[in-house]
Amino acid sequence: MNLPNQQVAPTTETNATEVRNAYPEVVTEVHHWNDKLFSFRTTRNDGLRFENGQFVMVGLVINGKPVMRAYSIASPNYAEHLEFFSIKLEHGRLTSHLQNLQPGDTVWISKKPTGTLLLHDVHQADNLFMLATGTGLAPFMSLIQDPEVYEKFKRVILVHGVRQNNDLAYKDFIEKELPEHEYLGEMIRDQLIYYPTVTREPALHAGRVTEIISSGQLTCDLGLPALNPQTDRAMLCGNPAMLKDSCALLDELGFNISPRIGYPGDYVIERAFVDNG
Ligand SMILES: Cc1cc2nc3c(=O)[nH]c(=O)nc-3n(C[C@H](O)[C@H](O)[C@H](O)COP(=O)(O)OP(=O)(O)OC[C@H]3O[C@@H](n4cnc5c(N)ncnc54)[C@H](O)[C@@H]3O)c2cc1C
Repeated sequence: MNLPNQQVAPTTETNATEVRNAYPEVVTEVHHWNDKLFSFRTTRNDGLRFENGQFVMVGLVINGKPVMRAYSIASPNYAEHLEFFSIKLEHGRLTSHLQNLQPGDTVWISKKPTGTLLLHDVHQADNLFMLATGTGLAPFMSLIQDPEVYEKFKRVILVHGVRQNNDLAYKDFIEKELPEHEYLGEMIRDQLIYYPTVTREPALHAGRVTEIISSGQLTCDLGLPALNPQTDRAMLCGNPAMLKDSCALLDELGFNISPRIGYPGDYVIERAFVDNG
């Protein structure tokens, strides 16, 4: 993907302070989707190995002190760069500064990725539903570029719930660029279904992620049978309320959650979101 660089005024004070257990990386590209969302790319230390779906701590040195926050890696683990998809919070301790990143700036990235959104922790089945709200799309941007996902599942359904149409970051990349991908294009054209859903504006698909699941709208629109633990699996990432409600829905339908890393189930969630929520 090509992220056009944007000129933004830097307010971030980065200096040579070392951040423990983190690599300094150089920002190479910044793309602002709208006034609430942006993505950036950085260099990637050779020592950083991760599984698609994992997160790292990302941060800046602000007024001489490191401010680090959890960020899902949005790029696939075979890419030379790292990519992140971020919210811009006016008063956020980190993102009020992070949103002013410019190419050439330094960001710190923790050396040990972790997380529970792991492909090997969902049992094999026909369909894999990736359910995301807001910046919860990030780990799925990594996962939908993983060939193993398409080897394990016949269909991969990426649901992205947002408030407004212009919050649908990566829409063109998913719909136009990925199907033309040199190596993954054919699998993506045949197996990936992108289902954006918008809550606060008219759109092709409307409604909250939990509503379109519980009403059966999602599977009906896709021409699939109702969600069923015999044929379907799910991975969830998004705001704590969506996670809580979706887990309750899936549990009611008889899906078993993966209890922890290394113990596969019918679905996985990003547990750090819930714990910190
Ligand atoms: C496992 C994990 C992965 C994460 N991955 C990402 C990611 O890929 N991209 C990303 O933007 N954030 C992600 N976050 C959230 C991120 O860690 C920070 O919360 C975010 O960067 C805001 O930090 P801040 O210091 O600017 O705001 P703070 O001052 O720490 O927080 C202000 C408040 O804003 C709200 N908030 C925080 N993050 C978000 C968000 N993403 N969307 C809506 N409201 C929010 C929270 O209610 C929080 O209390 C992740 C969190 C976890 C636990």
